Amino acid sequence: MANIKKIAVFTSGGDSPGMNAAIRSVVRTCAYLRIVCVGIYRGYEGMIEGDFVSMNARSVNNIINKGGTILKSARSKEFRTKKGREKAYEQLGFSMIDAFVVIGGDGSFTGALQFNKEFNVPFIGIPGTIDNDIFGTRYTLGFDTALNTAVEAIDKIRDTASSHRRLFFVEVMGRDVGHIALNSGLGAGAEEILIPEEDLGLERLLKSLKRSKARGKTSSIVVVAEGDRTRGKNVYELKEYVEKNLPIYDVRVCVLGHMQRGGAPSCYDRVLASRMGVKAVESLVEGKTNFMTGIIDNQITLTPISEAIKGKTKIDKELIRISDIMTT
Ligand code: ATP
Repeated sequence: MANIKKIAVFTSGGDSPGMNAAIRSVVRTCAYLRIVCVGIYRGYEGMIEGDFVSMNARSVNNIINKGGTILKSARSKEFRTKKGREKAYEQLGFSMIDAFVVIGGDGSFTGALQFNKEFNVPFIGIPGTIDNDIFGTRYTLGFDTALNTAVEAIDKIRDTASSHRRLFFVEVMGRDVGHIALNSGLGAGAEEILIPEEDLGLERLLKSLKRSKARGKTSSIVVVAEGDRTRGKNVYELKEYVEKNLPIYDVRVCVLGHMQRGGAPSCYDRVLASRMGVKAVESLVEGKTNFMTGIIDNQITLTPISEAIKGKTKIDKELIRISDIMTT
């Protein structure tokens, strides 16, 4: 058991739905274990400036259902410098903070690891990012909500697509990985799903679109991950290519963008956040540090941060196979 009397919690990097539920869980677990809890505003930026707020069980009333993060988030250039991290360490010292929980992505974890190397402040990470690209967990916080948002939006686009007999390319988030595209595309019944992990080529796309036209389909949806570059083309170039090569189609592009980050977290994300928050605080109390909470086979797990930041989760090949069958 470590002698932890005061724990700080903050959110860092891009926000994701479920971050508030995770803050709430950390604060309430601290209250339950009679540990003082402090919130840090604006991630490492606020740590450097000493922008702290005392938190108790009541400070987190009515936030489990809210998107965004009540502690705000930021990207801090200064924390990337040794001087910046020294300032942050001083601020933690002034407030007698023994350990912290960082809710964010792999960049935020890399920063925490570096900070721990230099100043030995214990920490646990909670993966909060809609992309679901962090190694060591089946799901990151916000992914499930983002999927539901994307599917709802694609369903709406399908309504207009079928009224006008149009083909829509719908771009969803996912710079390096296609988890959102693959899952939301499958869930929304897309004709094709284009992800960065696989370049299926333009021929296959045209063939598939021709086939769906021949089958008498009145509308088509192609879901494209933001980072996909089928034969080097982005979503607008794909549109042009299809218009040129399949003039039967009236093609439109819809980029869902930041709306996928917002909104009330799904029940799954709220439960996941609650479980991860408890695990994070209990782990610090047990003297553990430099781990990330995760969920694997529905069990809450700990993965060394050094491993979590090294790898990306691989796309589920079985889902690709199912998607191929569904689009036959
Ligand atoms: P997202 O997945 O949404 O991008 P992230 O946590 O990966 O979230 P980053 O902007 O990469 O977001 O990182 C958040 C912050 O972590 C940075 O603004 C910076 O302050 C800190 N950070 C990232 N990398 C390092 C590093 N190598 N050294 C020190 N601090 C870092």
